[in-house]
Amino acid sequence: MSSLTLADAQEQLRSGSLTPRALTESIIAAIEAGDGKIRGYNSFDAEAALAAADTADVSLPLGGLPIAIKDIINVKGEALTCSSKILEGTFTSPYDATVIAKLRAAGAIPLGRTNMDEFAMGSSTENSALGTTKNPWDTSRIPGGSSGGSAAVVSADLALAALGTDTGGSIRQPAALCGCVGLKPTYGRVSRYGAVAFASSLDQIGPMTKTVRDSAMLLNAISGHDAMDSTSLDEAVPDFTAALGKEIKGMKIGLPKEYFIDGIDPEVRAATEAAVKQLESLGAEPVEISLPHTEYATATYYVIATAEASSNLARFEGVRYGHRADAPKDLSDHYMRTRAEGFGAEVKRRILLGTYVLSSGYYDAYYIRAQKVRTLIRQDFSEAFQKVDAILSPTSPVPAFGIGERCDDPLQMYLADIFTIATNLAGICGISVPCGFTKEPKLPIGLQILAPSMQEERLISIADAYEQSTPWHKERPC
Ligand code: GLN
Repeated sequence: MSSLTLADAQEQLRSGSLTPRALTESIIAAIEAGDGKIRGYNSFDAEAALAAADTADVSLPLGGLPIAIKDIINVKGEALTCSSKILEGTFTSPYDATVIAKLRAAGAIPLGRTNMDEFAMGSSTENSALGTTKNPWDTSRIPGGSSGGSAAVVSADLALAALGTDTGGSIRQPAALCGCVGLKPTYGRVSRYGAVAFASSLDQIGPMTKTVRDSAMLLNAISGHDAMDSTSLDEAVPDFTAALGKEIKGMKIGLPKEYFIDGIDPEVRAATEAAVKQLESLGAEPVEISLPHTEYATATYYVIATAEASSNLARFEGVRYGHRADAPKDLSDHYMRTRAEGFGAEVKRRILLGTYVLSSGYYDAYYIRAQKVRTLIRQDFSEAFQKVDAILSPTSPVPAFGIGERCDDPLQMYLADIFTIATNLAGICGISVPCGFTKEPKLPIGLQILAPSMQEERLISIADAYEQSTPWHKERPC
């Protein structure tokens, strides 16, 4: 039953052929039997999920449907770790994040906390302090990151669907590498209240699912204005499922010339080109476009994201939150040892970088300049969207790489997000859908579609038309 889509599970629940308890029990059994190989979950509270299943109202939009939650989002009464030693064993969520409250109001059941790179910093889950998640298609490879646990459990049928977060690609890249659908909503579409902040001007929560329809269903539930997040947009939430099954004839699809560069894996390039042909056969019109500031996106992101992270992570100091060093000599010894012991290497690297770019004397040269380049990157997209309805590219330049392969070279790891990072800098929305496989070994390839701010419906229409006319989403790892 854990291999069902949300839509199929919903149909069975509503027809009475399946009960919420039986569905929840079967997912728990699947996790117990299968997660040893994948290590997608940090923890799960079977009792709480079963209790929720027993009172579930299947007439609600997501009634009785269990959803896995990235371990960076607060679920009241459950341990929250952000896959960091600094929080592990020391923190229980005192409240529900807005997305969790909304999921519950829609009848869904939060089930399981999924693994991630520590504080969502990374592209492979290898920065998790709790262990690396394995790619279900080849367990010697990474699942992508930072929401690698969410992607892996959806793809391995250990969850119907999951929530992830995306600051620079962390929903779309692992979805691509594990063969599922991942949607990063427009900045402000979904409340961030109760998601532990990494880079507050970039973070968004979004769905990771087996189909585009399921993403639309989840997005319906989690979207909307929230007084608790001042950056959430006060705009009406459409019914995203109404965007399914639409004609895409006449739509102009932009292919940024800066994205089709050397260094893309040949099979990824071939799959993307085949996807363009497929969309053309559905009536879409490919148009070459330019996003001239693309080459600065990664550098800009790693100034802004680290600056924001260095400020956001100041709260983990053993007084307000987290692990506390034993018997400190004095206050400064307390702070130094607490943070030295609690944070992993990548998190420390980012705090150092972020503190540096914000420090007096460097602030103008790095931080202010990065903000200016961010504006140029945003303008690139606005100009492109004058000419095209959506933009298309590979989600990741390469398929899933081997565990350990890129660990010694942070820059190689940062380049994994070369096609996803600019989306967050611009605040627009994007989706990754499966678009094929490499031959030997068989690994999923993802297609990224981007649309202007608040145009998730357009993303869903194009992604659904593509998905429904191709076989890729039906394939499962064995
Ligand atoms: N891989 C990028 C990083 O390490 C993006 C992470 C994310 O989106 N959370 O910052």
